[in-house]
Amino acid sequence: MSHQVTLIPGDGIGPEVAAAARQIVDATGVKIDWETVELNPDVIAKAGVSLPPHVIESLERTRVGMKGPVTTPIAGGYTSVNVALRKRLDLFANVRPVKSLPGLITRFSDVKIDMVIFRENTEDLYSGLEHEVVTDVVTSLKVITRVASIRIAEVAFKFAVEHDRKKVVAIHKANIMKLADGLFLRCCREVAARYPQIEYKELIVDNASMQLVIRPETFDVLLLPNLYGDIVSDLAAGLVGGLGIVPGANLGEKHAVFEAVHGSAPDIAGKGLANPTAMMFSAVMMLQYLKEIAAAKRMQAAIEKVYAAKKTLTPDVGGTANTTAFTAAVIDALK
Ligand code: NAD
Repeated sequence: MSHQVTLIPGDGIGPEVAAAARQIVDATGVKIDWETVELNPDVIAKAGVSLPPHVIESLERTRVGMKGPVTTPIAGGYTSVNVALRKRLDLFANVRPVKSLPGLITRFSDVKIDMVIFRENTEDLYSGLEHEVVTDVVTSLKVITRVASIRIAEVAFKFAVEHDRKKVVAIHKANIMKLADGLFLRCCREVAARYPQIEYKELIVDNASMQLVIRPETFDVLLLPNLYGDIVSDLAAGLVGGLGIVPGANLGEKHAVFEAVHGSAPDIAGKGLANPTAMMFSAVMMLQYLKEIAAAKRMQAAIEKVYAAKKTLTPDVGGTANTTAFTAAVIDALK
């Protein structure tokens, strides 16, 4: 049986990295009916909305998306495509595994980093509720709810159990935002109590940032509200080689959209310089979601093998190969 997947190549380097990831998925032998849907600034401008109906219609039907980055037009008042997509499909959990790659030289090459970040994806300071009270005085509302906090905590703990993880750390600033972050923490504690086999800890976000830099190897599963999750995931990406490496999944009750953390990189678009690793690892997460576990493992191992060999890497990670050569090396490593 083949899986139906909506493929959104996006724009900038999106079509290059999406094509590379698709090629590897197809090379694993897993049968996918790719339904390609165009989404880029031209399509958005023509439709007059960030999420044109054909995109939603396809994702609602297939329920699974693999998405390249999309440039959000700055003028015209469109909301970010990603924020719109998360809200519309209620993709409340943003999951980002951050792992050292064999052979890749970074400032932290001497430690083994292997953590998974669970970021609440729908509320907090991303509620978009901002007001200019009087001239030059602005308020921005931070929204934290029990429903959203419980469900992100549940996803994180369930993942920890299913993937043999040992420890979940909730990251907060409840010493200052006693009500908002206090509620988030209470929900995390409530869920933690149901998983006594998983060690549960709490860290204040500023301390957590320092600990992540001085002893990143001690982190396992991280559980955060939206804003801290956004910032900490980029920090964590920096520990393992940057944005070209780190994949992501946006998960809801019924839908899932897999995409790299990076943007459309207009500075290198069309030059064959894009590193498709983050998109490929996002595709690995998609295969796991589709329960194609053996293919996901083979794909992960093939990418890691190419890194370990150090011969066919893209310029952003110190190599000289182009996108096509890197992709061909991964296909070779699959055999
Ligand atoms: P960016 O991530 O596109 O680029 C930042 C830097 O990293 C650039 O120098 C770029 O060349 C490099 N880079 C990024 N991905 C790379 C890769 N795979 N291989 C090699 N180098 C890579 O961030 P930006 O320039 O701030 O954003 C560009 C556009 O992307 C903006 O319009 C933004 O709205 C959009 N964006 C989209 C998404 C998304 O759709 N998921 C996410 C972030 C940004």
